[in-house]
Amino acid sequence: MRTVTVVGASLAGLYAARALRAQGFDGRLVIVGDEPHRPYDRPPLSKDFLTGATTEADLALADAEEETELAAEWLLGTRARGLDARGRTLLLDDGRTVATDGIVLATGARARTLPGTEGLAGVHTLRTLDDARALRAALGGPARRVVVIGGGFIGAETASSCVGLGHEVTVVEAAPLPLVPQLGPEMAGFCASLHGRAGAALITGVGVAGLHGRAAVTAVELADGRVLPADVVVVGIGAVPRTGWLAGSTLLVNDGVLCDDGCATTLPQVVAVGDVARVGGVRHEHWTSATEQPAVAVRNLLAGRTVEHVRPAPYFWSDQYGARIQFAGRRRDGDTLRIVEGSLEEGSFLCRYERGGTTTALLAVDRPRPFTRARRELARQAAGPVPTA
Ligand SMILES: Cc1cc2nc3c(=O)[nH]c(=O)nc-3n(C[C@H](O)[C@H](O)[C@H](O)COP(=O)(O)OP(=O)(O)OC[C@H]3O[C@@H](n4cnc5c(N)ncnc54)[C@H](O)[C@@H]3O)c2cc1C
Repeated sequence: MRTVTVVGASLAGLYAARALRAQGFDGRLVIVGDEPHRPYDRPPLSKDFLTGATTEADLALADAEEETELAAEWLLGTRARGLDARGRTLLLDDGRTVATDGIVLATGARARTLPGTEGLAGVHTLRTLDDARALRAALGGPARRVVVIGGGFIGAETASSCVGLGHEVTVVEAAPLPLVPQLGPEMAGFCASLHGRAGAALITGVGVAGLHGRAAVTAVELADGRVLPADVVVVGIGAVPRTGWLAGSTLLVNDGVLCDDGCATTLPQVVAVGDVARVGGVRHEHWTSATEQPAVAVRNLLAGRTVEHVRPAPYFWSDQYGARIQFAGRRRDGDTLRIVEGSLEEGSFLCRYERGGTTTALLAVDRPRPFTRARRELARQAAGPVPTA
């Protein structure tokens, strides 16, 4: 391969570029990103960056020295708008094309928006540095009434940061309890209780009918008729994989780019990684998946076929109201729960999800060391990278 192009200049894209060089690719490396920024880290955007404890400089994922070593052509502020049906030419929105032998798709996801709220001042989503800058500015003044729509991880973290900044916060969640698909009802219940303990209101089981306000938002109207006055609204209702630009490429797309267990797509010279990739039927929106998949994807890209699979033990963390929540593995409905250290009352524990005597997943709240030990065990059980040749 003489040219490899990485589309998406963020976490998974940077790790793919690193993996290409680490695995001996010494050809032309092109990195295309539609944001104007160098790769930066997203997790702090809803946490320390929002509260002001972290600066923009702290978000950088690579320093100048590493960028020099990567010897890549960076096409930033440039959106890829198409990929030809053989996956050998990338079309850019400025009219240029990139002829390439291999492609790594790392275009991530965008924040889902609430229809009809476009252009209404005071309404925010939180996915990009620019989003976070805007929200941080909106939260910078005196105490404001903040309504967070969506009680998932990003909504909960944003609510936590807003409480930390002294704002009056209400979280609205359409489901009877947030985070049930990820944690199951018992542990989701524990996480939901963190809002109330910290002084944020949580309203569940009711959707949003609409927002009030002409130029700027003034209130959130709920489906049951309640009206919540609001100066700032944060919409945290999930993310959508950024695959629209791949229409016409012949790649199979269905809630992400469909890949085998080794991140290989249906075109032999195209692999996909990170939030945009549905690897072995599952799409994760986790930092660790976006950093682990690229080495495997690149190995398979350079080999021209799948010679390695990704490890099937996903992991994520979340920081809310001073608590560090860590989760690893794959829980399923009906797993039994066993708290093996600490307790819910203490607000600090390690819990195992079990099925047939085997641990399927782990959840810890403020128990990083025992969690790390147990996670290592779980990874051993999941057998790590599986070479197929
Ligand atoms: C606020 C926030 C907090 C988070 N906190 C946590 C956490 O605590 N723990 C955790 O495990 N995970 C967390 N995550 C998730 C984690 O950040 C993501 O899983 C990770 O960023 C995925 O990396 P990625 O490179 O696949 O996608 P992204 O980071 O979304 O990057 C994709 C890049 O591709 C660009 N792009 C898209 N389309 C095109 C195109 N057509 N042409 C060119 N460029 C394009 C995008 O603009 C973007 O720069 C958080 C995410 C957010 C937004």
